[in-house]
Amino acid sequence: MTEISSYIAALPHIPDDLTLARFMLDYQHPFKPIRYGIPCLIEDKTGRQLSIEQLREDTQRLAGTLHHVYHIGENDVVMIFSPNHVDYPTVLWATFKLGGIVSCSNPQFTAAELSNQLMTSKASFVIGHSSNIDTALSAAHLAGLSSDRVILLDERSPRKGNLVMPSVQELIHESQYQAFPFQERMLEPGEGKTKVALLSWSSGTTGKPKAVAISHHALIANVIQMAVHNQVGKAYSPRGSRSFRPGDVAIGVLPFYHVAGLVIGLHFALFCAMSVVVVEKYNILNTLESIVRHRITHLIVVPPQAIDLCKHPAVGSHDLSLVKYVMIGAAPLSREIQFQLYDVFPDAQIGQAYGLTEMTTTLAMIEGTQKRSPLGSGGRLLPGVEARVIKPDGSLAQCGEQGELIVKGPAAALGYLNDDQATKETFVNGWIRTGDQVSISESNEVFVVDRLKELLKVRGFQVAPAEIEGCLLAHPDITDCCVIGIPDEYSGELPFAYIVLSPDAHERTAFDVSAETELKLSIVKYIADRKVSYKQLKGGVQVVDQIPKNGSGKLLRRLLRKRAKEHSKLR
Ligand code: AMP
Repeated sequence: MTEISSYIAALPHIPDDLTLARFMLDYQHPFKPIRYGIPCLIEDKTGRQLSIEQLREDTQRLAGTLHHVYHIGENDVVMIFSPNHVDYPTVLWATFKLGGIVSCSNPQFTAAELSNQLMTSKASFVIGHSSNIDTALSAAHLAGLSSDRVILLDERSPRKGNLVMPSVQELIHESQYQAFPFQERMLEPGEGKTKVALLSWSSGTTGKPKAVAISHHALIANVIQMAVHNQVGKAYSPRGSRSFRPGDVAIGVLPFYHVAGLVIGLHFALFCAMSVVVVEKYNILNTLESIVRHRITHLIVVPPQAIDLCKHPAVGSHDLSLVKYVMIGAAPLSREIQFQLYDVFPDAQIGQAYGLTEMTTTLAMIEGTQKRSPLGSGGRLLPGVEARVIKPDGSLAQCGEQGELIVKGPAAALGYLNDDQATKETFVNGWIRTGDQVSISESNEVFVVDRLKELLKVRGFQVAPAEIEGCLLAHPDITDCCVIGIPDEYSGELPFAYIVLSPDAHERTAFDVSAETELKLSIVKYIADRKVSYKQLKGGVQVVDQIPKNGSGKLLRRLLRKRAKEHSKLR
């Protein structure tokens, strides 16, 4: 058996003196295929296309207005609170041209959830969407931002009372008529490694969601790592990549507010000179129609979407034969579903990607040369990733042995914003703890066996138990609680709460089944009123006398997870 200690393959130059905007819009990396007249972005609904020239111009103009009218500058945080939209990357890149930082939030969040992110990231500007603008305004108010710091990403410009709310397109056009000069923020050599570009959200191995600070260099590095892995560009092989070719068309159904959608679904696809069809909201029937209408070649999806592609009755009546690449990521995919995908897409390259926000996104993915990843594999380690698997006794695992994966690489994040304690726990001596139990094969395939960290993944979305527990503990009838995930075929897992009742609530419900059921339903509703849909207690609630804890008061989650699994089998 071979010992896994590290895996490093030669990487080409990764620029550390460029913002992500310069890298995407102006820089000709040797691995970047040339885009001859191929549109970058296509709006799914309307078919509107944006070329690279248009994106360059829009970015420049938007940066001018953001600077001149809103005074966005060095390290100002711009929060995008929107579903996918063709102007999403323009906002990112315009902010970077001004030295600003972007954070992306889930457009379904409640005002309380968004205001929490606004305050944690110290965002000073919000870009909402007509579908959630009231929530954006309430959240801005809660975070102490005035309503003139909120604009719209999409083109409709509702007039709210006397409030005129401009859209990104209006700001781009405003600059067309009045020149708004600004000094583009350039980076010194090496500065890209420390200059923060993105604040993404993750709870890491423990606790509540935190803002992960990701540098320009880390984002660029992850794109280049994927390019080398897949032999993109002519420099690597005379004919370039087989899997990612200029003119291929990816469907952008993964949300851009999550790193998987932003880095793989958007930036990596654009780097490969592909077109990205931008879909506002996922729905299987619309997706099938879009695949046919836009002649989609690449699907980058999460497990529940893969399940839809295998099981939905409408799949058979759509011609999916142009699809040549199907990649599933962000959460565990069952072997059965991976196997069924082979039948739906018999000629396509099919496999997974595995990674985490703390490594910008991708650590492993199906390689350009593979037709199919072995069943259950999260993909092969990317070049530049050093990986170690640590067994429970602290020793290094050998190939095929299980343990916690720790990693290093050029795409490592800088840490959690303003949270030294959490940073120290996850970023240890230059290594990042993934909190995932894996085994790695001799051919560098990563098999994710279990999650050691608290985090739940519901339909690919992160749910931090500590966040839901914090909310439950504010309920007057609850004195203690523990939230864990119970397995669910479609969502992967569903949040489930064990609660201990206050003496008063206990008295009200003791020996009264219907009173207890009513109370449990009211608690489910209590969370539903405060949290986005995937964080809600759809797994259920159970009343217990006490929550098991170890000597130092730490919740024994594993024990409860096991108990909940048994409970879910009985349901
Ligand atoms: P996020 O930071 O939201 O991308 O979540 C990262 C976590 O999602 C990882 O640490 C894993 O627990 C899980 N994950 C991501 N990709 C996969 C995969 N292909 N298979 C199993 N788990 C995955």
